[in-house]
Amino acid sequence: MLRRHLAGRGVRDERVMDAMAKVPREVFVPQSCRRLAYSDGPLPIGMGQTISQPYMVAWMAEALELAPGDRVLEVGTGSGYSAAVLGRLGGAVYTVERHASLARSARAVLMRLGYDNVHVRHGDGSLGWPEHAPFDAIMVSAGGPRVPAALRDQLNPGGRLVMPVGPAVGSQLLVRERRAPTGDFSREELGSVRFVPLVGEEGFQQPVE
Ligand code: SAH
Repeated sequence: MLRRHLAGRGVRDERVMDAMAKVPREVFVPQSCRRLAYSDGPLPIGMGQTISQPYMVAWMAEALELAPGDRVLEVGTGSGYSAAVLGRLGGAVYTVERHASLARSARAVLMRLGYDNVHVRHGDGSLGWPEHAPFDAIMVSAGGPRVPAALRDQLNPGGRLVMPVGPAVGSQLLVRERRAPTGDFSREELGSVRFVPLVGEEGFQQPVE
């Protein structure tokens, strides 16, 4: 999977490749999908949601330019798979999931695998996790209409945020924002992606399920 789907498509960061090699994706997918755990596609995890495609996780993690010790916020825990990858790259990871059942099972799997630097909360991640802010990096694993102001507020100077921005149905644009030491934000467009919608106060109002 690593050689074909990640390196073959431009993932270069050695630390990201190493983290991807060490996280057992099959543990995060439902029993019925285990055979497909190392194919490069999203898979259903219940509640109409999907575990992210490995390439997407690697690409976003690389774009976050994580250093050991970084404090990371993830919005959209899902299965917990991408949080585990982030947990290998950063210091502490705070991840928020709006579906209680997904938050519960992700927490259990992460604990079982020993990711005790990854903290899962059930709630609306479009508002971030203010009690643990500021963060050096923020990864939004669901597509929203715009970058939530609350997330910008919770980013450290020098920090990076990666998020799909666009309509709830169809494709979005993956954007990276950096907060300069002066506090200003700059934006880069990384490419076209397709994510499930960010549903919440600073996301879309209606679940599209
Ligand atoms: N990164 C996950 C997959 C994420 S799918 C993995 O590797 O498995 C996107 C997730 O975002 C879904 O589980 C969805 O329920 C969640 N989500 C959508 N809007 C959210 C919000 N406002 N706050 C927290 N989670 C949200």
